[in-house]
Amino acid sequence: MDVSPVAGANGARGLPVKVRAITKRYGTMAALEDVYLDIASGEFLTLLGPSGSGKTTLLMVLAGFVRPDAGDVHFGDRSVVRLPPHKRDIGLVFQNHALFPHLNVFDNIAFPLRLRGLAKAEIADRVAGTLDLVQLAGFGDRRVTQLSGGQAQRVALARAIVFEPRLLLMDEPLSALDRQLREHMQIELRALHEKLGMTTVYVTHDQREALTMSDRIGVINRGRLAQLDRPERVYREPADSFVAGFVGESSLLPVEQSSGTLRVAGVTLRTLRPLPGTHRLVLVVRPEQLEILESAAPQTDYNLFRATVRRVVFQGDSLLINVALGDGSELMLRRAAARAPGLAAGAEINLGLHAKDALVVAVQS
Ligand code: ADP
Ligand code: MG
Repeated sequence: MDVSPVAGANGARGLPVKVRAITKRYGTMAALEDVYLDIASGEFLTLLGPSGSGKTTLLMVLAGFVRPDAGDVHFGDRSVVRLPPHKRDIGLVFQNHALFPHLNVFDNIAFPLRLRGLAKAEIADRVAGTLDLVQLAGFGDRRVTQLSGGQAQRVALARAIVFEPRLLLMDEPLSALDRQLREHMQIELRALHEKLGMTTVYVTHDQREALTMSDRIGVINRGRLAQLDRPERVYREPADSFVAGFVGESSLLPVEQSSGTLRVAGVTLRTLRPLPGTHRLVLVVRPEQLEILESAAPQTDYNLFRATVRRVVFQGDSLLINVALGDGSELMLRRAAARAPGLAAGAEINLGLHAKDALVVAVQS
């Protein structure tokens, strides 16, 4: 097979990627609709969204396995939308690692190098170096069927990066691993990315993973890009109620509007945040933003809600407290376990939400 050559050790590492007006339909259903995306050279960009939102389809459009109905993809200055996958010089890692079960670790990793016709000695060198990088030095002779899930994913990663692709695509590579290993691998993958500097597009449905690893996050909802931003901004300035609900913990409370005032659960809302110019609005409340106030006396710049504690859940480091407001709407707040004595179901409390935290966004279903 005719594949792209192996990049030189000091070659330009990160390919910039441009996605232009990509649409992909299956029957009448649009898996992707008019998606635009610019990925900078060397950037770690995560596509985040629920199951079925179009993440894999977009990744496969980049890889060349899915041909879009409309739109274009550029790697650097070059349109690749008509190039087959093996001409795109891309490293790929999937959830179910897809290693060759009949080959040992060394031969799995050597595979893309043999395809590219490298000399035996250079293959041995590169495989050894890559095994080092993924912390599997000495594992070359192992059968891949004898590896743990985490080790197998490391081998898959090694096979994807051994030929020094300028673009690395990963589709939920950690989702089959248990939580501790997954969190460990998130940090490792991010460190490896910083070392190698290839442009990376990473797919996950796990918002915490996206916040942990990414330079920027593209949040996908029903085939459309709902927001493209740095992690802090996606969390603090969600573009709409979908992003607010999907990224981080939040309670979304309906906002009533009448004659210029906004009301939430019967309380006139004070906010120092900009308001979207639309009629259906919700207040986004993060659990860590709510304060429990001693007094029910109004305070400048605070929104004060009377609430009844419904449930207190012990979560080790913190308590998750579910409360109901006067109109029956529910909120979650979080307190350090040591700092919330005497809170129990039935307790009446005063909740304060500072006007600078009172984020109002448009409803997006
Ligand atoms: P995600 O990776 O975010 O879970 P996908 O990109 O796999 O989502 O799928 C997006 C939508 O496109 C889903 O509704 C899925 O059922 C549909 N879809 C994906 N691939 C195909 C296909 N080959 N044929 C028909 N529908 C598909
Ligand atoms: Mg998928």
